[in-house]
Amino acid sequence: MPEDQIHQGAAAPAVVRDRLFIDNRWVAPHGAATIDVIAPASETVIGRIPAGDAADADAAVRAARAAFDSWSATSPADRAGYLARIADGLRERSDELARLIASEVGMPLKLAAAIQVGSPIAIFADYARLAGEFEWERQVGHSRVLREAVGVVACITPWNYPLHQIAAKVGAALAAGCTVVLKPSEVAPLNAFVLAEVIEAAGLPAGVFNLVSGLGPAAGEALVRHADVEMVSFTGSTAAGRRIGEVAAATVKRVALELGGKSASVILPDADLPAAVKGTLSACFLNSGQTCSAHTRMLVPEALYDEAARLAVQGAAAFTVGDPLQQGVKLGPLASPAQRDRVRAYIRRGIDEGAELLCGGPDAPAGLEQGCYVQPTVFGRVDPASTIAQEEIFGPVLSIVTYRDEDDAVRIANGTPYGLGGAVWAGSDERAIALARRLRTGQVDINGGGFNGRAPFGGYKQSGNGRELGTYGLDEFLEYKSLQCKP
Ligand code: NAD
Repeated sequence: MPEDQIHQGAAAPAVVRDRLFIDNRWVAPHGAATIDVIAPASETVIGRIPAGDAADADAAVRAARAAFDSWSATSPADRAGYLARIADGLRERSDELARLIASEVGMPLKLAAAIQVGSPIAIFADYARLAGEFEWERQVGHSRVLREAVGVVACITPWNYPLHQIAAKVGAALAAGCTVVLKPSEVAPLNAFVLAEVIEAAGLPAGVFNLVSGLGPAAGEALVRHADVEMVSFTGSTAAGRRIGEVAAATVKRVALELGGKSASVILPDADLPAAVKGTLSACFLNSGQTCSAHTRMLVPEALYDEAARLAVQGAAAFTVGDPLQQGVKLGPLASPAQRDRVRAYIRRGIDEGAELLCGGPDAPAGLEQGCYVQPTVFGRVDPASTIAQEEIFGPVLSIVTYRDEDDAVRIANGTPYGLGGAVWAGSDERAIALARRLRTGQVDINGGGFNGRAPFGGYKQSGNGRELGTYGLDEFLEYKSLQCKP
């Protein structure tokens, strides 16, 4: 967030939030600084939130600390009741949330309703169920092994699927019996304020959930540094994750990191090529390419390159770019001017490095000069060692890379510092699964299989550590305690 977007006044935008949610009260922040929220479709200011600071973070942590003993001692069934009420509250406000997130992030409204709002509701409902079903203790020989909440948790989240990422952390942490301070992304924070209202209405005890908005290096880092925070659950860039790991080391906190990706979609010679190219494009361009597990590298056998490139160009043309609130739009703007400029610079870099620009390019799409729009772009014959094939672009940019044989495909797929998502397309699931076993990545879609909110989600290598969602996500927020009884 550039400094000029933090200021102390100017005309009021549509949504003004001037309070933080701490200890079940909407309190004024310590400082007067605010952050503007920009609608990427128009580049106009649509919201304003407090730029919370270290004093605000400290107040929230103290509230969470004070609430911990009694909240962690509640029964799982009681916590399940609260989580179910949160899911219901979100459902009641789902239309408002879909419009808000479509405006903040730029995802087309229909998709935003299904993914950006439907998924968080399902996650809270799932944690309500899991809290009731989880095995909270078991007998192991002469020991009784208990699962107990880690403590006060700081949840620090990004802007691309803002409420989904919040739900994955907050839902699991509350189910585990942790108390929470949430620091949402400053780029798309308005939905988090709605969640805080929903949580308030659900009647959670004071201090169990707290919201502090602000910038990462200020409010975010103050939480990471705080001695009374036992765990940081972070989703965001690898650079910020590295910094958080360093700062958290001083107090030996548990740190769960969900970071960037450069996922490969491997198409084997016997795959259904049109289906594979179509599926890869969808997984690459979803949310204008701003998906951490986006399939940004399409690996095809040399012999299939011409046909794959033709299908990719044809498929990219179907991604109508435009205003996310308009019917029929498949590709909204990128989430911020900074993100648009970054992606366009990567496209220029790809051209400079000699990749073949098959469609799209660094210029604004025709008629969309205003707004954070980028053309759906496909590069052919991309060198797997080049910048656009190695670095996370986070925009609608697909790189087609050719391979000689399966060993070569595996080497290329595994040949980045990341290991988050991926796909394998083959003539049979068995064949695809055999290749998927060789990929160093957290999740692999097999012949078009997609996201599963109950399966573990997370990365190998520099895509992070730990897993979210389902029981795997709940596990992250729990300690083991073994009671050694006399045999
Ligand atoms: P970002 O790292 O800039 O910010 C993420 C969050 O961290 C924000 O709330 C920000 O304020 C905060 N932050 C930044 N610096 C901090 C610091 N020093 N201390 C504490 N907090 C800090 O990421 P972003 O631009 O919001 O999101 C895009 C990135 O997130 C991409 O790299 C993407 O791949 C990644 N991502 C990963 C996953 C996953 O599950 N692996 C999911 C979505 C996004």
